[in-house]
Amino acid sequence: WNKALQGALPVLQLLESHGYEAVFVGGCVRDTWIGRELKDVDIATSATPQQVMEVFPHTIPTGLKHGTVTVIQDGEAYEITTYRTESGYEQFRRPKEVAFVTSLEADLERRDFTINAMAMRPDGTIVDPFGGMQDMERRTLRCVGDSDARFQEDALRMVRAIRFAAEFGMSIASDTWRALIRHRTLLSYVAMERVGAEADKMMGGKNPLLAMRWMAASGLLAHTKRELPPRLLRADTLLNDASASDEVNVSDRSFCILNTVDALPEVDNRWSALCLACSLTDEETAELFHQLRYSLARMQHVSAVVRVHFRMRCKATEGEADGQLRLLWTSTLLSEGKQASLAWLGIMRVIPALLLARQEADSQDNGLPVELEARLDKLALWLGEMPVWSVKDLAVGGRDLLQVLGRPAGPWMSGLLNDLVRAVAERRIPNDRDQLLAYAASMNEAVRANR
Ligand code: ATP
Ligand code: MG
Repeated sequence: WNKALQGALPVLQLLESHGYEAVFVGGCVRDTWIGRELKDVDIATSATPQQVMEVFPHTIPTGLKHGTVTVIQDGEAYEITTYRTESGYEQFRRPKEVAFVTSLEADLERRDFTINAMAMRPDGTIVDPFGGMQDMERRTLRCVGDSDARFQEDALRMVRAIRFAAEFGMSIASDTWRALIRHRTLLSYVAMERVGAEADKMMGGKNPLLAMRWMAASGLLAHTKRELPPRLLRADTLLNDASASDEVNVSDRSFCILNTVDALPEVDNRWSALCLACSLTDEETAELFHQLRYSLARMQHVSAVVRVHFRMRCKATEGEADGQLRLLWTSTLLSEGKQASLAWLGIMRVIPALLLARQEADSQDNGLPVELEARLDKLALWLGEMPVWSVKDLAVGGRDLLQVLGRPAGPWMSGLLNDLVRAVAERRIPNDRDQLLAYAASMNEAVRANR
């Protein structure tokens, strides 16, 4: 028994004591079986949402139309969904109609894959009408029922097939795979938000590279509703064999970064590495993030890592290198606006970019070009000697500035503090209280004069 399931057991038992059926269902059953950490505990019941709300004192009507009620029990939130069937799938997307039913089997039948269509009763017995356990053991991902029909009902399931297969190191059953290939163009009917959410889970999962290769090789990437950068669509060949590309000069790109994707702990750094490995520019990276409907903040972050990485690589004489570095910092900082803190930028952007380049060098026989190597060393040294990493490290605080400048507090403050951080980081002024205050006063004057 898993601890999270154990904690949720009273919820099921309470429903049972009122005469309803209640089970654990979906991902949590599957993950318990293979010993994977549970993301959330999903509960299904024969009780209608109304009945669920009558049983529990604290409920939130999360998605009544779909039968979902959130129950708060011992400080934990659990989603309880009424057994339901789905029908009226329109345009290869989500169903239009859901009907509440009292049969668990009927509920399991609407689910996408056999490994996701298992339930566990409060006494520990497993309900597995489609052979999910066996498929789990044989490492085979298979649709519940007829694959063609299932992918036509909801085309997103094709993307999910790849996500789960990559995540669990499974192969896709041949009829499921063939149906996927047959229906791949239907993905163009699915909202990009949904595709983006699945892609993000792939990238944050166990085998991001494999997943993206399959996404490219299956042709799914080429059939999304909005067009994705062309070079990403060839991720499978590019990633399989860097030298297969005739468009880019291989010795120049020397991107063996792809080996690092799976090893990076943070999902956005993985995205950066993937984009670099596919030779996307920072603009193309931004475009990709826009199309996948990721947040502006993430888009800026990842495209900045790509940009920084490119800049570090670009050819420059030794003399220009310092200027380049300064430019790199300043533009990275500027692009980040308010919340720029060097610690964040340093660790989150430049250091990953640096690490990528290092790992790339290690994975190659002949290493990096000498001048790039030198530049990386210099950057590492420069970062190592960084006098301030964030506003917190400054020898002045907001209160000092308010006193000296005699201005009412306002949003200008964080901007000014960040300007100070930047000035100190770029060694334009020392991190000294008096000098910082004088500098702040002069900046303040300049702003006033400009008005
Ligand atoms: P994860 O751990 O990645 O969240 P999960 O199995 O919980 O995996 P979810 O996307 O959270 O995946 O979905 C929960 C359950 O709902 C699935 O296990 C599956 O039974 C069902 N499900 C989700 N999306 C679909 C879909 N598009 N078609 C059919 N069933 C689905
Ligand atoms: Mg889930």
